[in-house]
Amino acid sequence: MSLTDTEQALYEWQIIAEDFGVEGQGKLKNSTVFISRCGGLGGLVAYELAAAGIGGMVVAHAGDVKHSDLNRQLLMSREGIGKNRMQSITGRLKELNPDLELQGIDQNVGPENVKKLISGVDIIVDCAPLFEERFAMNQRAIELGIPMVECSMYECEAHITSFKPGLTGCLRCLYPEIPPYWTRKFPVFGAVSGMVGCLGAMEVIKIISGLGRPLFGNLLCCDLKTMSFRKNRIFKDPDCSVCGSVPSINQSTKSQA
Ligand SMILES: [Zn+2]
Repeated sequence: MSLTDTEQALYEWQIIAEDFGVEGQGKLKNSTVFISRCGGLGGLVAYELAAAGIGGMVVAHAGDVKHSDLNRQLLMSREGIGKNRMQSITGRLKELNPDLELQGIDQNVGPENVKKLISGVDIIVDCAPLFEERFAMNQRAIELGIPMVECSMYECEAHITSFKPGLTGCLRCLYPEIPPYWTRKFPVFGAVSGMVGCLGAMEVIKIISGLGRPLFGNLLCCDLKTMSFRKNRIFKDPDCSVCGSVPSINQSTKSQA
């Protein structure tokens, strides 16, 4: 699919990036991303990808806007308090990019609805706070054979990696079980969730367009208290209950490191 004159003008400043160009922009235009959830972290993934000209987006997030959302959920506003979050999310994204083919789902992902909610997309971005949701998306990514960008944060720390079936392990290789210390409510600075959201959006752009090297086989650990950033190698567990039987594709993760 070629770019229109308007698209050439809208994306001029990224089209001139080396190894991206009109071809990379065209690939973005032809791709659909699934993002769950769409708050302090996923909202930034969605906003950056809408701005970058991705063609299709499915966003999932339940509930109404609360006062306590607004230190980080930048697609929401005080006007929206007490109203449906998805209304704010889709309104803001369409305002930014009216050409975006956008589907908003007023539900959170879980094992019971994941098959229905996630189909016909090219890539998943996991921004969910609960492991039940994260594991459901991980399983679905393996079933569909599509990549998943995995973002998480706690207080001043953020972790991000990308999985690709056959090339890397999966979230279950990293966390075979739900960590016993994990709680629903945890400290969040919007600048930390926003930072890892921007990194997640960049991973999507890279994986779709072929630009640079995605984090396949690497976990980027960021500590914003000390401003330290470290990449750790992570490996596939051959006995993983989710991806253990997925055959390796003929490309070593070492070449991606
Ligand atoms: Zn696995």
